[in-house]
Amino acid sequence: MSVQAPKCAQPTPLFPTTGDELDRAYEHLSSESFRNGTIVRLAGAVRIPTESFDNMGAIGEDKRWDIMYDFADYLKNTFPKVHKHLKAETVNTHGLVYTWEGSNSELKPTLLMAHQDVVPVPDATKDAWTHPPFEGVYDGSYIWGRGASDCKNQLIAILETVELLLDAGYKPKRSVILSFGFDEEISGREGAGHLAPFLFERYGKDGIAVAVDEGATFEKVWGQTFAKPGVGEKGYTDVHVVVRMPGGHSSIPSDHTGIGVASELIQAIEAEQYPAHLTSDNPYLSQLYCGAEHAPDFPKKLSKLLKSRAKSQPTCAAHKKVDKLAIEASKAGPATQYLMQTSQAVDVITGGVKVNALPERTEVIVNHRINVGESPQTAFDRVASLVSIRKTPYGISGSLLTPLQAEPLAKKYGLAFHAFDGTTEAPLSISLSKSPNTLAVAPVTPTDVDVVSPYAVLAGTVRAVYGEDIVVAPGIMTGNTDTRYYWNLTKNIFRFGPGYDVELDDGLGNIHTVDEKVSVTNHVNAVKWFMLFVRNMDDAELEI
Ligand SMILES: [Zn+2]
Repeated sequence: MSVQAPKCAQPTPLFPTTGDELDRAYEHLSSESFRNGTIVRLAGAVRIPTESFDNMGAIGEDKRWDIMYDFADYLKNTFPKVHKHLKAETVNTHGLVYTWEGSNSELKPTLLMAHQDVVPVPDATKDAWTHPPFEGVYDGSYIWGRGASDCKNQLIAILETVELLLDAGYKPKRSVILSFGFDEEISGREGAGHLAPFLFERYGKDGIAVAVDEGATFEKVWGQTFAKPGVGEKGYTDVHVVVRMPGGHSSIPSDHTGIGVASELIQAIEAEQYPAHLTSDNPYLSQLYCGAEHAPDFPKKLSKLLKSRAKSQPTCAAHKKVDKLAIEASKAGPATQYLMQTSQAVDVITGGVKVNALPERTEVIVNHRINVGESPQTAFDRVASLVSIRKTPYGISGSLLTPLQAEPLAKKYGLAFHAFDGTTEAPLSISLSKSPNTLAVAPVTPTDVDVVSPYAVLAGTVRAVYGEDIVVAPGIMTGNTDTRYYWNLTKNIFRFGPGYDVELDDGLGNIHTVDEKVSVTNHVNAVKWFMLFVRNMDDAELEI
């Protein structure tokens, strides 16, 4: 084994200080009556189709938002104590904030998040569902329906927790805040985009101790089950390429139309991928260390590469070289590979309107998810370089330039080039612009366990609920959650779905597709986790 100090120390299971009423409340979670009750309450939430559509109009004008009123009413009727004892506020009409004031205002609050909206169910897929998507069917093990696992389960689990703690007479020292957005699935601008500034106004920079939102869950890999709270998120950008060429009759065309020029660029983009590499703060590197330390089937080759990496402290210069560890680890498949590699995908192309007219405008949109250690600028520079200079800054292993790159594209076709300068429609040009939802890589949450940190509390709570067979390892998200708006409220952001059903081992429960569902055991375990976590955070004398 490694001669290094352990890089994946596991905290002992963390239980809150006892209290008779509270112990009874926790035991109640394992009862038939709680199970049956929460099935009804979660199924009821699934029955309200809070779909958020990409083309939503303004709140108040687009009637499709109004379903959120029904959802808020449902919560009010279903969790009466929460609504009686907590301060409930709405932000931007449908954003919900609940504040449970703690007795010690010196302590920074615990923030629990979830979103009320769900991904729409396309009409074409409705028949493919085993049970209709908005009926909240319970089949004896699972609750079925859109939102059952993304993430009305989390929202209901949080409210169950607070309701039960109120019932048991609990009085927190540390305030508990609940913040529920309503358009996370369409980027969260109206919901979290308003909720976060609202809370920032109240609590200020780093004014929150910890935030837990939906996110990564549990995974069995290398013969070991891991809980993987997301402590990082990749960045995001779409690069829009617009090629403007002269129109005219297609019976007397130029050799290359705008579509042809755009295609040449697409080919150049796809000819080379971003390199896989692991900076020292990439959470996936921590996962590898955790695997090496705790997983029986961890590959020997990776262990060896980890050891040699630990010996040679990588410098900035080393990052430019081939990262053998990242390349080897990437062999596990694309889902793993893209935890340590910037992705590029040419997803949209439009151009041309008529068979007898040359296309005057061709647009290509290239989606990118940015690796830890890079920034959206990396993607801007690369696409720009393919249009305007002779070689890419990326030359993986210094490979030869392809013929496509031998001549700058813009020059080759006599086109002006506008790179992210605000000009997008000049005649005879290739222009690049970035999407407004461009997002830097999220700051990585600290994961110290040798001090009392929110991560140590979270990990200790996981092991309290699930036992010491579960290893907690830092996780990274390839997608973005509502937490993207909360970065300045706390350094301790976790994207974590704490529910897990050891027997069914059902992972993410078909989110965003047909047959979304959640096992009731998974859901009940999530309530257990939240109940212990809130109390553990209350007991914790945080050192960071
Ligand atoms: Zn979600």
